[in-house]
Amino acid sequence: MIKLETSLIQINGIPPRFLLKLKKLGLESVKDLLWHFPFRYEDFSQIYKIAELQPNQQTTVQGIVKEVAMRRSWRRNMFIVEALIEDDTGAVKAVWFNQPYVKNALRPGRLANFSGKVVYSEEDICLSNPAYEFIGAGQMETKHTGRLVPIYPETKGLTSKGIRFLVKPLLENLERLKDFLPASTLKSLDLPEINLALARIHFPEIIEEAESSRKRFAFQDLFLMQLAHLREKQKLSSQKAQAVKINLEDLKIQLKQLPFELTSSQKISLWEILKDMEKFKPMSRLLEGDVGSGKTVVAALAAIQTALNDCQSAFLAPTEVLASQHYKTIKNLFPDFEGGIALLTSSQSRAYYGHNLESEIKKTSLLKEIAAGKIKIIIGTHAIIQKNVKFHNLAFVIVDEQHRFGVEQRAALANPEFKNLLIPHVLSMSATPIPRTLAMTIFGDLDISIINEMPKGRKEIITKIVAPENRDQAYAFIRGQVKKGRQVFVICPRIEQTTDSGLLAIDALRQLEVKNVKTEYEKLSQRIFPDLKVAMLHGKMRPKEKEKIMSDFQNRSSDILVSTSVIEVGVDVPNAAIMMIESSDRFGLASLYQFRGRVGRGEHQSFCFLFTDSSSASTHKRLKAMIEAKNGFELAEKDLEIRGPGEILGKAQSGIPDLAMNSLKDFTLVKTARAEAEKIINNDPALKKYPVLKTEIARFKTKYLLS
Ligand code: ADP
Ligand code: MG
Repeated sequence: MIKLETSLIQINGIPPRFLLKLKKLGLESVKDLLWHFPFRYEDFSQIYKIAELQPNQQTTVQGIVKEVAMRRSWRRNMFIVEALIEDDTGAVKAVWFNQPYVKNALRPGRLANFSGKVVYSEEDICLSNPAYEFIGAGQMETKHTGRLVPIYPETKGLTSKGIRFLVKPLLENLERLKDFLPASTLKSLDLPEINLALARIHFPEIIEEAESSRKRFAFQDLFLMQLAHLREKQKLSSQKAQAVKINLEDLKIQLKQLPFELTSSQKISLWEILKDMEKFKPMSRLLEGDVGSGKTVVAALAAIQTALNDCQSAFLAPTEVLASQHYKTIKNLFPDFEGGIALLTSSQSRAYYGHNLESEIKKTSLLKEIAAGKIKIIIGTHAIIQKNVKFHNLAFVIVDEQHRFGVEQRAALANPEFKNLLIPHVLSMSATPIPRTLAMTIFGDLDISIINEMPKGRKEIITKIVAPENRDQAYAFIRGQVKKGRQVFVICPRIEQTTDSGLLAIDALRQLEVKNVKTEYEKLSQRIFPDLKVAMLHGKMRPKEKEKIMSDFQNRSSDILVSTSVIEVGVDVPNAAIMMIESSDRFGLASLYQFRGRVGRGEHQSFCFLFTDSSSASTHKRLKAMIEAKNGFELAEKDLEIRGPGEILGKAQSGIPDLAMNSLKDFTLVKTARAEAEKIINNDPALKKYPVLKTEIARFKTKYLLS
């Protein structure tokens, strides 16, 4: 019996050159190979009589090999093998191009199946390059012909035929697998158990068998994911956190002193957050809201409440630029706050103690202040919690732009002052509007607050798709706007021209069409707008440099900023009124939406220009969606539909297996997985009755969710 964990090297009869190819596909164990599922099936299940064959048909015939011959076509420079196949209704020619070995493999007199396409050639029909399989006396089972034939993701030198050849005997000799899906779940969803599902996903008798097996595998991943989330939630709720009491009087005063009134969804979100933090149970909440909807002030108000409870908050931003912007924003929103606000990044360390007492401070001194609890709000990049920053009593962590925090990570930040360690409340914030199906799956362990309205007085951003012939006109318009005092963002997909010598000529040409920051910067600063101040920003610059360019732009020392997507998240420049996106077809809708959110933040009418050289209808349809959508959530749904979840989330960070990833579009399946998982956990919180399932969840978690 073959075991799942067995390495393919230990399986007899797999030629070494195959092992190399398998490795290339990332397949090293029996399990890897058996979980390398076909992505479609060719239907050769119907065996036709030779007399019935029609041109263009995909077919299988069964017959005796009568003659085999090989010739060389000098004109086409290839070997051609021809065989005559005969059944009781007639004979047909089969032809193979450049497969000289077929000549010796096909021995006349043998019975075989031939599956392939019927083509019309030289005034007669023939089978073109058919797959063949000899039929022994009394043999029923076939793998390449006369059935639904699985087609796999292939690699050079390892075809679907080769994979079938390997998979079939493995399946036949495989140990019996224990199914970790509860029998009740299988039954209520009418899904096949694991052994059957595995056999059927490779070699189904009818297509419905393949479909229900595929559904089972998709379901099982979604189900495991939900269980992992629910268990994490369970584990978290058994932990203790510092309860942050709400200080209503101070809150009212702070709200009054803000330069604006919170929108009602900001108020509701703030209240949901404060109500969570009032408990001894650690909060796990996601605050979702469009770009510019005002998440920062909500988080900051919660951090100030935490400070009033004499506890510390850490505010984590994805980039240094954003960290320093948050620092400035919070400082300016709460100028009287005396609890100490610090900015701590690899290049900066500064502290603010209210009433404009702002100073640069040595990093070592700042770290001491933090460890002594003298600074209540610490703003920085993720590095501040991963490196050796010692907090005095960290009770609240704010993570801008989604970052998952597991129980283990929180535990690492636990407050050592208390014997039964207290772990921090966590608020994650995201401007990427995540469709419900995705949110449920990826953030299944989080509670969600949504800010779904913009602060009053924001004007709609006029959005236009600009074709190449209208470029000059757009430049003229931009010049006019700059003369009126506005500023402009120009976004390009790339930093510099890349010419990858490994690319085919056609791909290399396409690469050239994609706009890059350096070339555009040169063009705009020297040729188009030599009289204006053009600056450039990209991710390869040093943090100090980036900081300088960003603050120059914020102070209006430059008019036009040519940048990569580094400015995608969060940057706030109210005077910027034009967002110009080059090669806009290269970006997902969610990214485009984020870019557009950089403008329209001030009192001026703002514009977004989507430049594209593409004339493809689907590109235009996608870009049009940008113009028509009313909010980010609507666009995200569209993106999910058009590009799929992998593209939206980025495969690497999403932690979701491929099959489940594709099933995320299937909201019903996601909901079913959630409901089934809840049923199991509610009946048996410790999973005592499901030991196999429990191990599987743990395995799934280490593989996908904790990275
Ligand atoms: P995001 O949700 O994208 O992080 P920010 O928190 O950066 O948005 O807020 C964008 C801008 O809107 C900031 O300048 C902020 O001060 C301002 N703002 C936030 N809330 C309001 C409000 N209720 N009314 C007016 N302006 C607001
Ligand atoms: Mg923000």
